[in-house]
Amino acid sequence: MPPPPRVEIRVDLDVISANVALLAERVAPAALMAVVKADGYGHGLLESARAARRGGAPWLGVATPEEALALRADGDAGPLLCWLTTPGDDLAPVVAAGVDVTAYDAREVAAIADTAAAVGRPARLQLKVDTGLSRGGATPEDWPGLVDAALRARDAGLVDVTGTWSHLACADEPAHPANDAQQAAFDAALAVMAQRGVDPGVRHLANSAASLLRPGAHYDLVRCGIATYGVDPAPGAHDLAASGLRQAMTVRARVATVKRIRAGASVSYGHRWTAPADTWVALVPAGYGDGVPRHGTNVLEVLLGGRRRPVRGTVCMDQVVVELGPDDADRVEPGEVAVLIGDAATGAATADEWAAACGTIGYEIVTRMGGWRTVRTHHGEGTAP
Ligand SMILES: *Cc1c(COP(=O)(O)O)cnc(C)c1O
Repeated sequence: MPPPPRVEIRVDLDVISANVALLAERVAPAALMAVVKADGYGHGLLESARAARRGGAPWLGVATPEEALALRADGDAGPLLCWLTTPGDDLAPVVAAGVDVTAYDAREVAAIADTAAAVGRPARLQLKVDTGLSRGGATPEDWPGLVDAALRARDAGLVDVTGTWSHLACADEPAHPANDAQQAAFDAALAVMAQRGVDPGVRHLANSAASLLRPGAHYDLVRCGIATYGVDPAPGAHDLAASGLRQAMTVRARVATVKRIRAGASVSYGHRWTAPADTWVALVPAGYGDGVPRHGTNVLEVLLGGRRRPVRGTVCMDQVVVELGPDDADRVEPGEVAVLIGDAATGAATADEWAAACGTIGYEIVTRMGGWRTVRTHHGEGTAP
């Protein structure tokens, strides 16, 4: 048997399926879109998508046309939305593959309608209104113009309006007044469509946080990304574990060497930690080149030899130093497996815990984990043998 990988990103696809099933039940009668953009938040685009479908996700969501086409090439034929096109994108294969595309402005509607004419089938078009995030989408002032452009394209037989949607800025803060304001703006945008006699298709506003915390924002469909992977969309606002969602990603690394350092010895670049007493340390061969955040310097913990041990000193590109403890009984053997992040129930630090320690969000921890020299493995039912 070959030795286990130096650094392994293990993804439990059964956990993703179970999280999706749980979310689908929780948001019913609204439907669920599992968001698998950015390589499935670091979990694998295709594997995560298949697991989400197995868990009962009627919709999938991605950012870019390339992500959508990769799913179609994998054989996924179900409802699928993308929402981030850039001028020059070739939308023909996307429209031909029956992917829902999103328009933020009348220029995009025109490009999509031209593409539909060339492809010879109506494009599935969703319209996005900016209700207060000031990211993509038509502002309330520009919204009637976007709706009218879609209406003309529809009447020309070039598009079917399949959905209308917006995105929340502060859903992770349930009491933030922006949530009510954005929902009111969304309702106003829908009213503009009703006045013009345009069927909005599926109406959707909620991300993971609003799916869990704001039932009044569910409309017809919710878009869950991070919750699908069992990472907390709203730390501090609720109890993720109580919701039954579990972290699907485990990151493991095998200890390279173990040694004893003397009191007064300083550790790693910049000497940001000095041993107050003689102690054992282990070198773990994963660093910021593998997605371990450098802001984790002196604040991360890993699970090693059955308990939590602190990262000491600066996180390097390829490695971190972990303190084992002063006693010979504290040491571990080279080759032992350290769990960097994993399911909370195993005693491992979670992505959310690392994020809190580093001043970021769990999304960034899991999405950036991995790289050229790490191995990502998928486990669970439906894994290709
Ligand atoms: C990424 C994204 C989502 C998913 O957000 P989560 O907080 O991960 O649930 C939903 N909608 C849009 C437009 C997104 O960009």
